[in-house]
Amino acid sequence: MDLKTAANLIRSEYAARCAKAEEAYRRLLLTSDALYEAEKAVRAATLDGKSAKEIKSLEAKKAEILGKLGRKESEFSPAPRCKICGDSGYTSNGFCECVRRRASRETQGKALPAFSFSNCDASYFGDDVPMLENAYGTMKIFCNKFPTTKNLNILLFGSVGTGKTCLAAAVGNELEKRGYSVVFLTAFRFNDTCLKYHTSFEANRADMLNALIDSDLLIIDDLGTESILKNVTLEYLYTVVNERMNLGKHTLITTNLIPEQLEARYGERTFSRLFTQRVCLSVALQGEDLRKRK
Ligand SMILES: [Zn+2]
Repeated sequence: MDLKTAANLIRSEYAARCAKAEEAYRRLLLTSDALYEAEKAVRAATLDGKSAKEIKSLEAKKAEILGKLGRKESEFSPAPRCKICGDSGYTSNGFCECVRRRASRETQGKALPAFSFSNCDASYFGDDVPMLENAYGTMKIFCNKFPTTKNLNILLFGSVGTGKTCLAAAVGNELEKRGYSVVFLTAFRFNDTCLKYHTSFEANRADMLNALIDSDLLIIDDLGTESILKNVTLEYLYTVVNERMNLGKHTLITTNLIPEQLEARYGERTFSRLFTQRVCLSVALQGEDLRKRK
């Protein structure tokens, strides 16, 4: 979802909550003459430009009547979900962070898997605890330095069951908590989104790809398990990640494949642009530490 649509969604949801609360208050007014009179007095005083002190005392009287009815004023003036923009979607710097988060959530179609660094401990997985702890430490440093990290791309590799997805999701959740937008999707879903973009004639088709390019962090889970679609799989992986790199944005990829297999599958051009040591930090979760090999 693009940012403008997400901002509209946030605004209209807040407007709907306010309208619902207003309607509830209007109905309550019809059930209590005392409240009706108190409300009328507050409005009249405001319109007549009475002193703040007078208005305050009339409001206190109204609150007291509400209290006797077992209700609270706050029920009828819902607080915005975002304290930064008040659910307007905008700040003086443009779109609010809540809009970016919302847009990425709508794009993934699901929230990030609920893993964090604390509930996704390295010692749960595999036998090679020092290597896993090292991987966790590396990713924690990555989060702390984000977005000014040395490498734009991260490759997390290890075979099935080594906790790659868990660690990737922990990174995503940590960065979301810090206000960055994160899009998390499987390689299958990534491939599918690119195919839809590639074959779409819709006027707003660019939004599909922009959602992948705009986020602060893109996580592609399990690269190498998707099928290779002609003119799509290899081309769009390169296009999306390369475009993100041009914008200085980070991409985290998890995979079962070792670098040699990645190069064979995605080609030399993609490999050397996206995955070489110059731009990509490789983090092994199992087996020989491939960073030491070259
Ligand atoms: Zn906001």
